[in-house]
Amino acid sequence: MELNSVKETEVLIVGAGPGGLVLACDLARRGVRALLVEQAPALFPGSRGKGIQPRTREVLDDLGVGDAVRRHGGPAPVGMVWQEGMRQGEHDMFRRAAPTEAEPYGEPWMLPQWRTQEILLARLRELGGDVAFSTALTGLDQDAEGVTAHLATGPVRASYLVAADGGRSTVRRALAVPMTGETVDPAPMLVADVRVTEDALDRLNWHVVRGEGGFVTLCPLPGTADFQLVAQFEKGEPDTSAEGIRALVAARTHLAADDITEVRWSSDFRPRAALADRFREGRVFLAGDAAHVHSPAGGQGLNTSVQDAYNLGWKLGQVLRHGAPAALLDSYEAERRPVAAAMLGLSTRIHRGEQERGAAAQQLGLGYREGPLSVGRAGVLHSGDRAPDGPAAGGRRLFDIFRGPHFTLLAVGTDAEPPVSDGDLVRVHRTDAYEAYGTGVFLIRPDGYIGWAGEDTADLAGYLAPLGLAPLTRC
Ligand SMILES: Cc1cc2nc3c(=O)[nH]c(=O)nc-3n(C[C@H](O)[C@H](O)[C@H](O)COP(=O)(O)OP(=O)(O)OC[C@H]3O[C@@H](n4cnc5c(N)ncnc54)[C@H](O)[C@@H]3O)c2cc1C
Repeated sequence: MELNSVKETEVLIVGAGPGGLVLACDLARRGVRALLVEQAPALFPGSRGKGIQPRTREVLDDLGVGDAVRRHGGPAPVGMVWQEGMRQGEHDMFRRAAPTEAEPYGEPWMLPQWRTQEILLARLRELGGDVAFSTALTGLDQDAEGVTAHLATGPVRASYLVAADGGRSTVRRALAVPMTGETVDPAPMLVADVRVTEDALDRLNWHVVRGEGGFVTLCPLPGTADFQLVAQFEKGEPDTSAEGIRALVAARTHLAADDITEVRWSSDFRPRAALADRFREGRVFLAGDAAHVHSPAGGQGLNTSVQDAYNLGWKLGQVLRHGAPAALLDSYEAERRPVAAAMLGLSTRIHRGEQERGAAAQQLGLGYREGPLSVGRAGVLHSGDRAPDGPAAGGRRLFDIFRGPHFTLLAVGTDAEPPVSDGDLVRVHRTDAYEAYGTGVFLIRPDGYIGWAGEDTADLAGYLAPLGLAPLTRC
């Protein structure tokens, strides 16, 4: 093959799941050339990761799809426990808090995964990007300058490659990065999207049927006529055929086989918890399920994939577009691997019934205090903390001000005169003292975490260059 027939791109993203799509959207709005390849001929068709956590809603809002997520989704229904064909009463599986000034989303939001992916693909196309479907990666080589990926359609040369290719990641295996972990539950599970005759089951509750053989749950999926069915198999193996699913429902619930009028998608899985030993190998990064696999019980997987991508996107943007030292990219593993490890522990404990789906599952408290990019503290916040929402000048919200690919230098209730930047990469704002911040000056990263904090900006200058930010000037 001639060298000039090798396609070139800055970032090759492998896998158009939620993680790959979020990264592609983020890089597109930063003007980074990226190619997103997907082995399947179309987006994933199942409802799988249907619980969008409050922190992920904030991220999706920042990416410009907050309205679509709200329109197509709905609150998580309260559980209804069934035994021997009788309702036993409601049991709410989730922590629900009213929205506050600082936390606009107080509870998980239901949205079938296929819909989330459809919304993200539409956004990617709006931003000028797309997915190359039916394009599997089969192998890769890398050297000091870049990565050569072997795709079904021919070779591609990229400055960086991001493996967002799911739990069975071809890229992770090609790099021989080990996964360390354990089986969470020896019982296999079945998951399917099914249509149920209208009067057989109400759509008000998430139905949980307890009985011999393992539990069966049926969760109505907002914006569709479907339920997501999940069944545990204490004995035997799941039969994912339509007939197998009808027989299972008839045997384990009060519904008749014919009440399942359609099986739209089905799959089986065995809950495991495992973490990649490394999230980076040279110019290749592992993100999402490619870096960590876990039980779906805590509703963390898709959410953690989205957060991985959101953490990496702005760093790649700073290195490729704004001349930041490549060492900035080392902070991806340093920040995200501890978060993924904590999420795995949480998902396993929730799966085993050792912990409720409490505040930790909402991911609002996650941060990077111990990470290499966190410097200083001010008011009630520490660098590395999530930057809370709140009121801003002109009737706007802080999240309106943060929305977009830029950094924000925010002076809260202080006379300290913030410097100004001459470009659009750092936007400077002042706001009145506000309890979620206290007072101080905060440099907020594009992913909504506080990078630097201080009572005034005396020490800020030294923080900027490693992030690829030019010195700020005094008015
Ligand atoms: C029953 C169930 C319920 C769940 N519920 C939740 C929930 O409520 N909340 C939650 O957060 N998570 C949940 N999850 C987990 C969630 O579905 C996953 O964590 C999420 O899909 C991971 O996203 P990803 O982008 O990392 O990978 P994936 O979604 O797995 O996407 C990887 C993509 O890469 C493609 N690919 C693979 N290999 C190649 C290759 N060689 N070349 C090109 N493309 C390739 C695949 O086709 C796929 O499209 C649930 C999972 C299950 C099974």
